[in-house]
Amino acid sequence: MTDAPEIPVRVRAEVAALPPYRQGKQAGAEAFKLSSNENPFDPLPGVLERVQAATALNRYPDAAATRLRERLAERFGVGVDGIHIGAGSVSILAQFVQATSGAGDEVIYAWRSFEAYPWLAVVAGATAVQVPLTADSRHDLDAMADAITERTRAIIVCTPNNPTGPIITQAEFDAFVQRVPSDVLVILDEAYAEFVTDPDSVDGRLVLGGGSRPNVVVLRTFSKAFGLAGLRVGYAIGHPRVLDAARSTAIPLSVTAHAEEAALASLEAEDELLERVREIAERRDRLAGELRAAGWRIPQAQGNFVWLPGGAETLDIAAAFDAAGLIVRPFAGDGIRISVGEEASVDKVLRIAASVVKDLPEGHSGRGLA
Ligand SMILES: *Cc1c(COP(=O)(O)O)cnc(C)c1O
Repeated sequence: MTDAPEIPVRVRAEVAALPPYRQGKQAGAEAFKLSSNENPFDPLPGVLERVQAATALNRYPDAAATRLRERLAERFGVGVDGIHIGAGSVSILAQFVQATSGAGDEVIYAWRSFEAYPWLAVVAGATAVQVPLTADSRHDLDAMADAITERTRAIIVCTPNNPTGPIITQAEFDAFVQRVPSDVLVILDEAYAEFVTDPDSVDGRLVLGGGSRPNVVVLRTFSKAFGLAGLRVGYAIGHPRVLDAARSTAIPLSVTAHAEEAALASLEAEDELLERVREIAERRDRLAGELRAAGWRIPQAQGNFVWLPGGAETLDIAAAFDAAGLIVRPFAGDGIRISVGEEASVDKVLRIAASVVKDLPEGHSGRGLA
């Protein structure tokens, strides 16, 4: 509960019940900000120049982001109408939930997963159906399929799962989709796809190949691997008519010319960018490996972050990181997500984590071999 003053106008009860949005802490000059899964690298120099040269600020952008759609369509081997651009993939998620789900409809997703999912369902007026993760912090796709009812309109599947880290395999996803009615939308949220190194992982490109799954859409973003979180640009790949439904609910002209230009330039510099991604993935593997060696039970980590199961001690553990100048993302009573940041942050994280784990009680959910 908050002790915020009453809202002076009438708002929907479910909206009034939402905690007001407060952004995570901004890092001080000395601190490492490891709380938002941001890319620690600056954009490539070519990208900055292209953004600076982009269209005059007194003009609206191209509402359809045509050049970026053409470029992505080529890359994924689909028609231009099979790509939809949004101001971040979160805004596309919101569009799909709004397009499919209203009062009385159900949106299924795993929990714990991305913090935006519950909010998206509530704002659309729909009912959120949360299916607990397995003991090893993975999606329980059988339980999610079991949760489908006549009222289910959308199912969000996040891989690698934010904030816990494990992927869903291609075989698991294929078996799951078989169980979903063909008129229920499946949103495959692949915000961290570029960081995945597990060869068994589901790959949205394969899911869409041949168009045999028109009820599946794949979401990707330039915010994480491509390091453009500040410019807000993401995309969906899917059946053109399904994407049309999202386009109909979009706030027009949200994707700026600068965002489009930066995304285009980043795709052109992809080899260099992916080299950085490889570096982050290696850093992640080292971080996860050493945390396990120190006694932490770390689930599979395939994004640009690791998950420390903190249980009831979560906020105390986060305070220890905070005191050391490491801004991490705690989820009270559950665990802590730590982004893979600058090289210099890694040893610092390891040092604090190693000292904290020793204080955890025997049998604690965070202790032991993963
Ligand atoms: C970061 C993230 C997104 C996308 O963020 P945008 O910046 O809006 O593109 C989507 N899904 C998950 C699970 C994320 O972690």
